[in-house]
Amino acid sequence: MNHVSQHLQVDFDNAEFLYQLLDWLPVGVAVLDAAGDVLFWNRSAAVITGYHRDALKDVTLGDCFQGLDVGAADPIPGRPRREDWHRQDGRRITVILQWAHLRTKADHRSTIYAFIDMTENVIDEDSVQIVNQLLYEAAQRMQNQANTDGLTGLLNHRAFQERIRQEVSRTRRHKEPLSVAMFDVDHFKKCNDTYGHQFGDRVLAALSEVARNVFRQEDVVARYGGEEFVIMLPNTRVDAAVAVAERFRAAVEHHTVRYHGVEGNVTISCGVTSYEVDTRGEDVDLIVLRLVQQADEALYHAKASGRNRVVIHDYARRPKGS
Ligand code: GH3
Ligand code: MG
Ligand code: MG
Repeated sequence: MNHVSQHLQVDFDNAEFLYQLLDWLPVGVAVLDAAGDVLFWNRSAAVITGYHRDALKDVTLGDCFQGLDVGAADPIPGRPRREDWHRQDGRRITVILQWAHLRTKADHRSTIYAFIDMTENVIDEDSVQIVNQLLYEAAQRMQNQANTDGLTGLLNHRAFQERIRQEVSRTRRHKEPLSVAMFDVDHFKKCNDTYGHQFGDRVLAALSEVARNVFRQEDVVARYGGEEFVIMLPNTRVDAAVAVAERFRAAVEHHTVRYHGVEGNVTISCGVTSYEVDTRGEDVDLIVLRLVQQADEALYHAKASGRNRVVIHDYARRPKGS
């Protein structure tokens, strides 16, 4: 212990040792005289700013770094302050800067500046914006995942309920028609039993692809249950809805699903119903319930009358106003 302190005592009197010590501090150290000329510039100062000691002869530091502007007035020694500087290579850096007056033999107004590069640590406005954007995108992804069925990429049951509720309420305000079609794969159990469950899964994914090609962008296609799909067609009267449902039914019938050397076709049955605004101002939830129930009933009739067909619900068939 005693031995060490004796040794240090000797070296502190040695200017060369002090220079080395200052050079190896991980803090930029600069000493400027009253005119702004650099009296001392350590290695870390060069590393942080990119300005080598020799290059400083031609550069006014005040031009490069705000906060090092000593020419103007007496700097007030203060608390550490955050400064944004441009490095010699143009890169923006953030430093924590602190300074104090120094007394030297030549000039009593010299100032020592010490600065630490905080670029990696400081959360500036850009970073905050980037983090916000990432958070927003993550939230969107989570929202999409929560609304989407993993196998088919279609909306799930819950998301569909939300959408149809919004759409019915909008439709009612604008006095537009709205149709709902419910599809169910025929004898799907047999399809699974014959070709395997994985092939069955491929069939469901393929049906969603076919649906994407048949229905309009505005139509809302959802996987309602296991092998059941529901489609809401905004601003569509029942006859137009039946026509497009029929196109979907035919497209599915002619679509061959291929998976690991296995080929197969399935058919679907469909029930269609529609809603046209009347003057009674029914409750939105009631309308939604009735639409889904009617589409389901019509689907049941399609199954009972031979499958692979589209059936309109009696309610939608009857003339309006009766
Ligand atoms: P129907 O013509 O009367 O609709 O006959 P079905 O065999 O399609 O009807 P059922 O309700 O008896 O069987 C539906 C089958 O759908 C049973 C179930 O295993 C299968 N299924 C439901 N969801 C999935 C799924 O995600 N993947 C696969 N591969 N099969 C499914
Ligand atoms: Mg079913
Ligand atoms: Mg079925």
